[in-house]
Parts: sequence; C-alpha cells; structure tokens
Amino acid sequence: MNSRSAPPIPFFTQASSFERCWPEIRRHLNALFDRGKYSHGRQVVELEKMLAAYTGAEHVLAVNSGTDALTLLLRAAGVRRGDEVVVPAFSFVATASSVALALAKPVFADIDPESYSLDPDSAEAAVTERTTAIMPTHLFWQLADMAGIGQVAARHNLTVVEDSAESIGMRWDGTHAGLLGKGGVLSFFPTKTLGALGDAGAIVTNDPDVADQAAILRHHGRMGRTTDHIAGISNLSGASGTNSKMDDIQACVLMGKLPHLDADIARRAVLAEAYTERLRAVPGVLRLPSLAKREVQSDPVFYVYVIEVERRDELVEHLTRQGIGTEVYYPTPLHLQPCFAELGYRRGDFPNAEAACEHTVALPFHHDLDEDTVDRVCEAIRTFYTGSRN
Ligand SMILES: *Cc1c(COP(=O)(O)O)cnc(C)c1O
Repeated sequence: MNSRSAPPIPFFTQASSFERCWPEIRRHLNALFDRGKYSHGRQVVELEKMLAAYTGAEHVLAVNSGTDALTLLLRAAGVRRGDEVVVPAFSFVATASSVALALAKPVFADIDPESYSLDPDSAEAAVTERTTAIMPTHLFWQLADMAGIGQVAARHNLTVVEDSAESIGMRWDGTHAGLLGKGGVLSFFPTKTLGALGDAGAIVTNDPDVADQAAILRHHGRMGRTTDHIAGISNLSGASGTNSKMDDIQACVLMGKLPHLDADIARRAVLAEAYTERLRAVPGVLRLPSLAKREVQSDPVFYVYVIEVERRDELVEHLTRQGIGTEVYYPTPLHLQPCFAELGYRRGDFPNAEAACEHTVALPFHHDLDEDTVDRVCEAIRTFYTGSRN
C-alpha cells in the first residue's frame, strides 16, 4: 500500500462508538431536557447507580473530573495538611498534583518495569513517619501489585487509595479496581475506555464515611440540603469544600455508553492481540504489552496499547510523516516535572520510571480501528527499523 495516499490514522477518535450508542444517549437526553435540571440531577443519580452495579461499589460519587475525584478522595479518606502520600514517579501528573491539591506532599517511588505501576519495595523505602497514605496507579492494561502494596500499607499503617482513573473494567480476583483499599476513582475523560463528551469523573468506595465526606466536599462543603458549609479548617483537611458536581449531559452520554462497555473491552482485546502478533518479530521493538507474573492473575483491559522501542522520538516522527498518530504516556517522570522541582528530586532517582518515559509509545487505539489499519501501523514501524518494505 502506498502510505502517502492512504488516509491518516488518528491516534484516537470516538466517532463510531457514539454512532452505536446514540439512540440510548438520545433517550437519556430527552428525559433530561423534559426535566430541565442540568447539574447533579436525576441523570447523575441514575448513572451513579449504574456504575455501582457495574463495579460492585457500594458508593459511587459522580464529580467533574478524575482529577477532582482523586483530590476529594484523598481528603475524604483522611489525608491532612502536611501528610506525605507515596505515589509512583511514572503516571499522569494528576496522580501527584491531586496530593498537592489536598494540601499534602507527594513522595515519589519507582515503578516495577513489568507492570509500569508502583513498586512495593521502592514505595516502602519512601515511607517516613509523616506518611499516611499510599496511592498506586493502575496503568494502561493491568492493576498494580495490590498484594505487595497491601503488605507495605499494613506494616506502616497506611491508607491505600487507588488512582484507578484508567482502569474501568479491571478486576483483581473479581474485585473491581478502586475497591481494593479505601477507595478509588474513575475518569471519563473522552479518551478513556469509557469516555464522556467532555470532562467527568467519579469516586468509588465501599466505605460509608469516605462516601459521606466526599459528598460534602463536592458540594461546597455542604451537608445535605442545609446551607451550613461544614468542611473547614478543623474538621477536614484544612481547606473548604468545592463545586465538583457532574453535568447531567455527561451522565446521559455515559449511561448511553455503559451498556456497550464490555463489548468494547472485548474488541480492545482483539485489537491488542492483532498488534502484538504483528509486532512480535519487528527489530527495534523492545517490549510488547504483557502481564506481570503474580499469584492473582487478572485479564487485561486495554485502555491504551503501549510498546517500548529504540529511538522512540525518531519513530514517532516517522509515523507522524505517514499520517499515523501516536501519544507518549508519559514523556517526563513526575519527579522531574517543573511543578515538583522544589521537592528536590534528581535524574537517576527512579531509573525504571525514567526508562519508561524514554522508550514507551502508545499506538492508535480506538473502536474505528480495523485489522487492515493495524497492519498499516505495524508495517510503518517495521519499515522504520529495517529500512525496507515487504
Ligand atoms: C486520566 C487520568 C487522571 C485524571 O483524570 P481526568 O478526568 O483527566 O482529570 C488521573 N490519573 C491517571 C492515571 C489518568 O490516566
């Protein structure tokens, strides 16, 4: 195939997934417009119930974004001003900025290169007498080592909260991500496995106190229908409540899409397998997605398809020239982000996180993708490393 005249391959598009779900989305939107309450109304409450049924969570609190969900979860789980929270150095910035927004201090630890998630030994080495919580991230297609992290937490009496923003559908021995400690979050940012038409997120927890506190915090620190704003300096983490209610329009979109989620996850597994088959023998490809060896083994749920390669930036340029979109999650480790410079970390502190930032690239991955397109992407990668066409 002449790739110059071939249509571009976007990294991500939602087009066909919306087409499929549109009749259900429209039904929910019609109900919303009939009622005319557009923020945290009946549709949001319905969505919370559907998400509780899907995840098995006793409490689901819909909020503005995954980032807000993390910040409010940390505060609701008891993280206070000046506490230290151990987080992985390889993750989205919100994993650490949410800790700072909760007025606590993010303390970084390295990742396990097999799972890209928080390494329990490195996490334990980061614990001090000020540490009160540990927050692993479940990245890309699998959960962090929750058994290992649970042991560290037990030895040091730490609260476990999960950055499960990417992990809808992921389960550990049957328990959904976010429900393995005090609580977790879901992000419905458009590119996520279950994406809205804008920002949206949720807290999931089985702990009624966490749920109560989070409900107060997301609504201006307000208790139920009264106008007393109780979240304040003394009884919560030292900051006021905020406004982080989900829009009902996003709830309608998500309710329309949720019934299709398991089929989408199955389709993602097929696409991931197609990539893996075609990339297995390509020189220059250092690593394909795999599952870390553990006692409890769960099926992968592919949020993105990430590989490690030699000369990553040159490959990205080569693919861009051919109209093939890619993303790098994440080009800079969190301990070297300018916003955390004052914490005093240096290059070399977390070698696994730094190597992941240097070599990983995410390939096009969405529901419009078919196997011919996967072929084209893989052929373009092979051509880059071998310098020849088949
Ligand atoms: C997407 C994501 C978030 C934040 O979610 P938003 O909804 O974009 O605020 C947090 N952590 C991780 C690991 C994510 O991938």
